[in-house]
Amino acid sequence: MPELPEVETIKKTLEHLVINKTIQNITIHWPNIIKHPDDTEQFKQIVQGQTIHRIDRRGKFLLFYLDHHVLISHLRMEGKYGVFPKTEPVNKHTHVIFELTDGKELRYQDVRKFGTMHVFSIGDEFNCPPLDHLGPEPFEKAFTVDYLKEKLNKTNRHIKTALLDQTVVAGLGNIYVDEALFRSSIHPMRRASDLSDGEITSLHHEIIETLGEAVTQGGTTIRSYVNSQGQIGMFQQKLNVYGREEEACHNCGKVITKMKVGNRGTHVCLNCQK
Ligand SMILES: [Zn+2]
Repeated sequence: MPELPEVETIKKTLEHLVINKTIQNITIHWPNIIKHPDDTEQFKQIVQGQTIHRIDRRGKFLLFYLDHHVLISHLRMEGKYGVFPKTEPVNKHTHVIFELTDGKELRYQDVRKFGTMHVFSIGDEFNCPPLDHLGPEPFEKAFTVDYLKEKLNKTNRHIKTALLDQTVVAGLGNIYVDEALFRSSIHPMRRASDLSDGEITSLHHEIIETLGEAVTQGGTTIRSYVNSQGQIGMFQQKLNVYGREEEACHNCGKVITKMKVGNRGTHVCLNCQK
């Protein structure tokens, strides 16, 4: 699943491709992706004729700002965007096509069909689901050590599960939680409320550092992720634990273990993470 660095990279590449382009027509092959308004005809009528002025990111969501509305898109497991000439054949995983006035098409492809799209009037987008309950962005001022302490002190969940909760901090997923916990020497099954102040300070620092480095590297390419110009990210070369089960820890040389935490595959060095 694309996490903050991958969505940020997709945002940046899409900006070069669709900003100031006008949506002439929309074709929807898989209506379940459209969540609001739930009538796909209404969705089309609202969006058609509007120009894409800007793209933002909030957590793992892309926000396309149009003339009067904002289109909120979540890629979930395997969703991706590409811009193609109209003449290029549409593959079977293409579920929504935004026909642009310059002869190109912005196509949303999703092998798993789990992605979502919502459209709201500009100004309403943060007042209703899916964006209304998101926690702070890791790179914004509101994400302080004190904020993280307060959130973690209140919960007995495993630290891994707490960090995956998008209401605690927005944008983290399986890859970057495993990496930030390794860098902070914290075992993913520690109870969030048991972490010391020093551990939370370290974790806060490593969340920001890990995500920042991954954004610089264009994200992590594992399985199918590519940006919207077909380029792969490079952060997979920097991974310490994620996807490295049975390989040697870069820090101590012991073997990396894969386990389940809250039903999520979790990578840990049992020697480095206590
Ligand atoms: Zn180790």
